[in-house]
Order: sequence, then C-alpha cells, then structure tokens
Amino acid sequence: MAELQLRSLEKTYGNGFRAVHGIDLDVEEGEFMVLVGPSGCAKSTTLRMIAGLETVSGGEIRIGDRVVNDLVPGKRGIAMVFQNYALYPHMKVTRNLSFGLKLRKMAKPKIARATEDVSGILEIESLLDRLPKQLSGGQAQRVALGRALIKSPDVFLFDEPLSNLDAKLRASMRVRITDLHKRLRREGRPATVVYVTHDQVEAMTMGDRICVMKDGRIMQVADPRTLYARPANAFVAGFIGMPEMNIVDAVLTREGGVPRLSVDRQTVSVPDGLAHRISAPDGPVRLGIRPQHLDIVPAEAADAFTGEVVNVEFMGHEVNLHVRVGPETLVAVAPSAPEIAAVSRGDRLGLMPRGPQIHLFATGEDGANISLSND
Ligand code: ADP
Ligand code: MG
Repeated sequence: MAELQLRSLEKTYGNGFRAVHGIDLDVEEGEFMVLVGPSGCAKSTTLRMIAGLETVSGGEIRIGDRVVNDLVPGKRGIAMVFQNYALYPHMKVTRNLSFGLKLRKMAKPKIARATEDVSGILEIESLLDRLPKQLSGGQAQRVALGRALIKSPDVFLFDEPLSNLDAKLRASMRVRITDLHKRLRREGRPATVVYVTHDQVEAMTMGDRICVMKDGRIMQVADPRTLYARPANAFVAGFIGMPEMNIVDAVLTREGGVPRLSVDRQTVSVPDGLAHRISAPDGPVRLGIRPQHLDIVPAEAADAFTGEVVNVEFMGHEVNLHVRVGPETLVAVAPSAPEIAAVSRGDRLGLMPRGPQIHLFATGEDGANISLSND
C-alpha cells in the first residue's frame, strides 16, 4: 500500500473559497513526489493539510495505514521544510537540530549520536555553534534539512525550500537533496517525500514522479519522461518544457483518408508516425509542437508553415526564432550554425514539424491530448 494516500481531498477556506477540488494521489514508500504548478494552484494548501497545519474540508489523508485527518502534526510522522527555513533564531545550530528529539524525551547520548550523524551527512559540523543569523541562506537551508532528517519521519514535506536561494546555490541544493534521498534509499531507510515547487526544472530533475496541479485540481501524475513525451492535456504540455511548447489553433481535415493540418490558410501533412494515432474527427483542434521539433526550411517549402521572423533570441549554442504564421507566432529552437546566424528579423522562412513528436489537443484551454491513442 502507498505510504501516503489522498482520497477526494478537499479544502474550502473560511471565506468560502474552494482551493482544493477533491484530489486523489498515491505516493509510494520511498518515492520522491513533486507537486508542481503555477502560483495559487493550491500546492501549499495541499501540503499543509498533509502536515496537519490546515484543516481538511472533505476526503481522507492516510499515512501508512492510519487516517491522519484528525491527528495533530506531531503525531503524523512527518517533518516539514519551508522556504523561509523557520529555524529558532535564539538557538544555536546544535539545539535547532536536537530540539525535536529533546521534546520526544530521547536520551542524551542518543540525541548526540543523531546530531553527529545528521550534521555529517549535511556537512554542517563546522556550523554547530552558530546562531541562525550567522548562517548564509544555503547553510540555513541545510540546517533546516537536518532538522527534518534527524526526526526520521515517515514522510518529508518540502514547501519551495530553495526559492530564497540564488540560482547557483539552488542548483547545488537540488543535487544535495536528491543525493540525500538516494543515500537514504541505499542505506535501507527510504524517505517518502512530497516536494512542492513552482519551478519545472526542480520538478523534472528531482521527482521520481511529478503531480502537475492547476486551480486546485490534478492535471497529470507521471514520471518526468512521460510528462514530457506524453502530456495528457494542453496545460501540462505548455507547463513542462523550455521554451514553452507552441500550441496553436489548427484545423484537421482528411483528403482521401490522409489527415492534414491547417494553420491560418497553410496546410501541411501530418508527419509520419503521428497520422495513425489520430482518431479525432475533422474539425478544429489545438496543434502542439515543441520548439525543438520544428526544422528550419526554405520559405514556401512543401509541408512546412511559412512566416516572417519577428524576433531572434541568441542563446549561445542555440537560437530561438519567433516566426509569425497568420495570427499565431511559432517559436523554433535551432542550433546556432552559420546559416541560422544569418537569419534576421523580417526574413521569411519555413518551419517543418518533425516526426511523430507533435501533439493534437481538443479545443479549450486544457484540451485533452487526442493524439496519444492507438500507440
Ligand atoms: P500555491 O502554494 O500553489 O501558490 P496556495 O495553496 O497558497 O497556492 O493557495 C491556493 C489558493 O487558496 C490561492 O488562490 C490562495 O489565494 C487561496 N488561499 C490560501 N490561503 C487562504 C486562506 N487562508 N483563506 C482564503 N484563501 C486562501
Ligand atoms: Mg505555496
């Protein structure tokens, strides 16, 4: 059975605002689950209900084999790490680490051993005599991590723990946290993690699986590769991947059974490897193509969309070309080869969707992916 289960979980705040709309989620023992989504989609609300810091309006939370809805936080077997570290400001690092164990009345020698163990793992031995105000952001976050780790909780809960750090430190803390997770797994004490972030890079690089949320609902739960290759709907498709997937209005038509796609007044064949997957009837669809899956070809080439270059972003080893096709703008990522370096604003060129990696979505904001069937 899953270590953590959410069943029809709901939250309506006191002011009547319905933040969480009955979500179901299973997190396996030892799994690193990331909750990701735009600001306001109820990631923190969900996490705080799991932690017991927020009441549950409906549904059930199970940790292990217990329903914990009505348990106080201290009895749930969880430890939480916040964005703002939440260290006790008047206590030295040692006491910040050991305080939770002292409250549990653990014997002193055992506490000392646990403190030594955890400070070794997180390389904070040299900081033990400092006060929180004498720590850098990265050091403080390591102490906060240690304070969670020392409790040996059943479930670790993280709420945007790296958001206050600069980009470089964030990158190294990402690795530190995933390494720690792997290490605990290797040592036979796997840590179940629910990690909240709005950052898709954190989600993709840290999660065993990722739960994408929007407006208090779950849009898809899958491992990073599946999420990228087989997004269940246009929302997930647009949220995961950089630059963002092009998702444009298109019309699907069949001529002699062969499906074709039109954007504005330009029509292209559906690439090989995709045609057989399309079961949608003829009519309006949303066409999704990642910028990496558009080849630059001459203007007016067959089976390509032709348009005017409206912006060129030089990224170093790549160039992002923004090309206006009727009312839509398509972004293509091209390697910065000499012939691409010569492209400038105002030029006309063709964009050819490559291979089977394009997607069709039902119309509407979060339209379902209708090109995943028959695989
Ligand atoms: P996230 O962590 O994904 O950014 P939150 O869980 O903090 O989102 O908030 C989800 C929604 O619930 C937001 O629209 C937010 O404004 C609302 N919300 C959060 N806390 C409260 C509260 N105490 N009372 C009313 N609405 C709240
Ligand atoms: Mg939040």
